[in-house]
Amino acid sequence: MTKAWKHELKNLITDIDVLWAQLALPVEFLPEAKKAAALFPLRITPSFLERMQKGDIHDPLLKQVVPWHLELAAQPADFISDALAEKDANKIPGLLHKYYGRVLLMLSGACAINCRYCFRRNFPYEDNTPGSTGVSKMLEYIQNDPSISEVILSGGDPLMLPDEVLANLILPLNDIKHVKTLRIHTRIPVVLPSRINENFLKLMQQSRLHKVIVMHVSHAQELDNAVFNALKKLRPHAHLLNQSVLLKGINDNADTLIALSNKLFDYGVLPYYLHLLDKENHTAHFEVALEQAQLIIWDMMQKLPGYLVPKLAREIPGLGCKWVYGLMAMPH
Ligand code: SF4
Repeated sequence: MTKAWKHELKNLITDIDVLWAQLALPVEFLPEAKKAAALFPLRITPSFLERMQKGDIHDPLLKQVVPWHLELAAQPADFISDALAEKDANKIPGLLHKYYGRVLLMLSGACAINCRYCFRRNFPYEDNTPGSTGVSKMLEYIQNDPSISEVILSGGDPLMLPDEVLANLILPLNDIKHVKTLRIHTRIPVVLPSRINENFLKLMQQSRLHKVIVMHVSHAQELDNAVFNALKKLRPHAHLLNQSVLLKGINDNADTLIALSNKLFDYGVLPYYLHLLDKENHTAHFEVALEQAQLIIWDMMQKLPGYLVPKLAREIPGLGCKWVYGLMAMPH
């Protein structure tokens, strides 16, 4: 099964007409969808597509990935490219050093799916694909800064890389004494579960570091049996956490997020953050107001144990940490 994930990647849905035909979607949305796809390409794995309801243009999984006419609309002034000002923290190609004690490495610009709300949809990945000399430079940077205790692999999606490439970075970290934790941010166990193969699990086993895998799931419908089996294999090797993005028309109510928290727990994953949307250009139609978000969290707190209520957070450029919102006042 090692090659199954590569086979699925070769069969990604990248053609809008194919998507419309496979899901029997209403044709009136097609011309504008084609224009939006020119801004950010369509990309969906066949296994993620299988979890969508045919004929439903408002399916919560489809809405995350379908090019949409509202991306073409004029954006509010604060919706800009590189909303998080990551270029300022881009110390060497592929390495961001934004927070004390942690560095974030972007080894690949590719993802198995393209999420329309992605805050890195406009990021210059072409300037940030490190290659093998780049990986040596990253390791040197980490070696030379004893304050770095955690290395975060992000992207794109780091699990898009072959195991040998990942091994070239992950195994040398074993020899850098001040590094304690390896964190991997990935959507792959959910959108391409066949990727969690024996070789990758062996690599996890060979790393002496604490491992944390942060999944990005925003709706319970994303979690099916294949995902359950992939996560079951990961559980002995890593702490599994989830972060969601609060998305208008997809998960912007307490019932949907309660169902997600409960299902994540069934799958051995703890909710971690619920992110307010990063204000990236072309994504304004996904925005949910802070006041509504706080009411949703309040509702969740009434119905779930505290450990299943994610922290409501926003990333603010230059802050040095994420901003976590408490409740301003007790809602009536
Ligand atoms: S980086 Fe994450 S959110 Fe952005 S497109 Fe890739 S999988 Fe989606």
